[in-house]
Amino acid sequence: MSHSKVRVRFAPSPTGALHIGGVRTALYNYLFAKKFGGDFILRIEDTDQTRFVEGAEKYIKDSLQWLGIEPVEGPDQGGPHGPYRQSERKSMYHTYAQQLLDAGLAYMAFDTPEELDALREDYEQNKKISFKYDASVRNRLNNSLHLSPVEVEALLEAKTPYVIRMMIPEDEEVFFNDLVRGHVRFDTNELDDKVILKADGMPTYHLANIVDDYHMQISHVIRGEEWLSSTAHHVLLYQMLGWEDSMPAFAHLPLLLKPKGSGKLSKRDGAKFGFPVFPMRWIEPDSQDEYQGFKENGFLPEAFLNFISLLGWNPGDDQEIMSMDTLIKAFDIEKISKSGARFDYNKALWFNQQYIIQSSNETLLDYFKLNFPSIYDMADPEYMAKVLELYRERIHTLIEFPESAKPFFSDDYFRDDQQIKKRYKEENDELYAGMFEKIIGTEPFLQANLKASVESYVEEKESKFGVILPILRLAIAGILQGPDMFAMMEVMGKEKVSTRLEASIPYFKSVKMRKDE
Ligand code: GLU
Repeated sequence: MSHSKVRVRFAPSPTGALHIGGVRTALYNYLFAKKFGGDFILRIEDTDQTRFVEGAEKYIKDSLQWLGIEPVEGPDQGGPHGPYRQSERKSMYHTYAQQLLDAGLAYMAFDTPEELDALREDYEQNKKISFKYDASVRNRLNNSLHLSPVEVEALLEAKTPYVIRMMIPEDEEVFFNDLVRGHVRFDTNELDDKVILKADGMPTYHLANIVDDYHMQISHVIRGEEWLSSTAHHVLLYQMLGWEDSMPAFAHLPLLLKPKGSGKLSKRDGAKFGFPVFPMRWIEPDSQDEYQGFKENGFLPEAFLNFISLLGWNPGDDQEIMSMDTLIKAFDIEKISKSGARFDYNKALWFNQQYIIQSSNETLLDYFKLNFPSIYDMADPEYMAKVLELYRERIHTLIEFPESAKPFFSDDYFRDDQQIKKRYKEENDELYAGMFEKIIGTEPFLQANLKASVESYVEEKESKFGVILPILRLAIAGILQGPDMFAMMEVMGKEKVSTRLEASIPYFKSVKMRKDE
């Protein structure tokens, strides 16, 4: 290989939102480039105009930006090998298609879609095999190999639509060394004569991909496993164009599998299993179907990236929490696994929780301010920071925060009436009242002092923590679970605590009086 610098590209087609698999491909390319001081390039492969989706390119770019995977060359960044959108490079592909035609390595095919459909049908029905446009049929079909030059000329004169197909050699072997899968070989007799230039004058993915990788001096192609079988055609194209010495190394990444059962993770699995499969919100332009992403589900980009990084790769030790810098250092293509990686949303939640715990209050508040302003605006930043401190170990996503910590921001929080019925005893009213008084009288109103007050009260009354604490929790926050009770009281402040305690007994009584439903 003659590449002096690592140059990799992420080459999505703007046919929809970038899903988790695409994010992983982008990330692995980025990590690999950074590790070797190379370049990470974004190239938009928009040659299939029938599958073009409005807004998809912007979505891809916004997602990469959210994740901090920034290209050095791309449609927005520009660069020495632009343009970086294939639809803007059309003339270049023509030149090479023509070169292959002139060299007798490609041919013009005038078969209409209807004729090809009929052939496919005939093969299915009568021969029980799939039709393949290859050496076995090419000499009797409607193409420039079979037709005379005069006939071809006449068809061209009449502006008959045609495609250009690459001519696959017979009885040969194509092989390459895949950095993930090792030695891969294909028998050329299994390959079809792929279309390289379509009737609309656009190249197919195969031609455009090779021409661009060559011109953009790509050293390594890191992409999903679904492209493995196309690589045989790509290797042949490099040979046909005389670019063998510049051929990049290939690495095909394992599939992402459904959380349960078998098969590839799909966007429908998200809805089915109740988790996001896209990095950010995506609204399908045609159907207006809306998909929430990891971002809207309260994930920190670093946590999401860390989670994604381990889908199909690991550093070979037990290390799991890794910053981008650590990932760059640790990343090793050799350690990418061949087998599919199962998607586990609980693992994603665990990563996010770890990142929330690790983040400073300032970082989290800044993140709220930018991405969840309605949460940020719930209270003043100082108060928010204190509440966050109490809840950071208890939440898995940022959007759980306002719900979990609701008693700190509103009086309209959930009250566990079942527990109230069970724990509240009218005969203890006097005991409760004394305790409330003791709490309100505590000065300064701080966690340690509040704890000491309650402890001494319990002792003095020869009562039990198990009797007193649940009542306190239910009185100030409505449920039994939560952060340290006394820390909660300190943060809420005397005024709020006193109002809640005062209102609690009448409410408990009303619950008790209610008939069991
Ligand atoms: N445009 C292809 C895709 O959408 C790129 C495959 C490749 O990286 O070669 O995934």
